[in-house]
Amino acid sequence: MYKMMTPGPTMVAENVRNARSIEVGNPDFDTDFFDYYKETCELYSSLLHTENESLILSGEGILGLEAAIASITETGDRVLVLNNGVFGKGFGDFVSMYGGEPVLYTVDYKREIETEPLREYLDKDSDFKYATLVHCDTPSGMLNDISKLCPLLKEYGIITVVDSVSGMFGNAVDVDESQIDILCGGSQKAISAPIGLTLVTLSDAAKQAMENRKTKIPSFYANLMIFKDYYENKWFPYSMPISDIYGLRQALENIKNDPDMLGRHARIAKKTREAIVRSGLHLYAENGYSDTVTVFTVPGGVTASDILRVMREEHGIMLAGSFDVMAGEVIRIGHMGYNCSQENMEEVLCALDATLTKLGVALKQPLKF
Ligand SMILES: *Cc1c(COP(=O)(O)O)cnc(C)c1O
Repeated sequence: MYKMMTPGPTMVAENVRNARSIEVGNPDFDTDFFDYYKETCELYSSLLHTENESLILSGEGILGLEAAIASITETGDRVLVLNNGVFGKGFGDFVSMYGGEPVLYTVDYKREIETEPLREYLDKDSDFKYATLVHCDTPSGMLNDISKLCPLLKEYGIITVVDSVSGMFGNAVDVDESQIDILCGGSQKAISAPIGLTLVTLSDAAKQAMENRKTKIPSFYANLMIFKDYYENKWFPYSMPISDIYGLRQALENIKNDPDMLGRHARIAKKTREAIVRSGLHLYAENGYSDTVTVFTVPGGVTASDILRVMREEHGIMLAGSFDVMAGEVIRIGHMGYNCSQENMEEVLCALDATLTKLGVALKQPLKF
């Protein structure tokens, strides 16, 4: 195996892998499993500092985003789509797909979304049912300050839908303090469980908006309302992937038992950025640096695929390029969740130094963590 230092999926701890191999009962008929599912959801909510209900859906992160949009959008709804990255913009596609009218608020992809210009914009136009925003826009490593942006949107009575799939547990998320109405998470980023589950956390206002719809949610799998009263009725809308949920539970317990998790991410990310800059390479963004992924521009004279190939073939480390408008432009180093350690980053930067040297890139200083 190679060392997978991509910005998700991450490597998975042994106790999480083992939890997935435990013999299981029938998740449809074993009433104990309804308690286990609910307790796992409650643990997740508590780690995000809220008592808002969370649901674990069977499907990877994208299902959470689609379910959020499908469940809240009605035909003709105006939706503010905060766009400073590939995922930010992508929300607009889901909004259109479910009959909404996305209004893009676009900011340079190298800069975080700032509150004051947004406030000026909202002073002129705030007639939106909800707004979408991305905490960490992974293809560019752009971090938006949801603790300021969401309360601002709420001042204007706008429901907030946040994708923090690759932000949560590497950067702080406080659902209550930030007034996040719908929060989307995924198992395979800083949670460091395998790919396959998404989690959606709903405020009362979000539930109310779904309850008050005039039209039915035009989906089954992406309909969050079908989970209503699952616990009281002991009825899931479909058979739950019980082994995946055992793994997720262990991964969440690992987070609970790791009080320094955010501190470690902050230190490792800062050291990584400093090492990149010292070496003469360039960080992609001008501000808004995520603590889960570091993104630098591919230096002149080489290609992203050359760098990725040598890292993988000669050093046994997988880094990531990017996609969409970022394709070929940048290299991404994931240091989230289980991957976020001093030892891993020492190894990665040492290998990256050797790789760039071999490819003929002249660095100002050796890359060293
Ligand atoms: C990973 C990720 C998702 C989930 O989608 P993938 O298909 O796993 O890439 C959603 N949003 C963000 C910001 C992500 O980083």
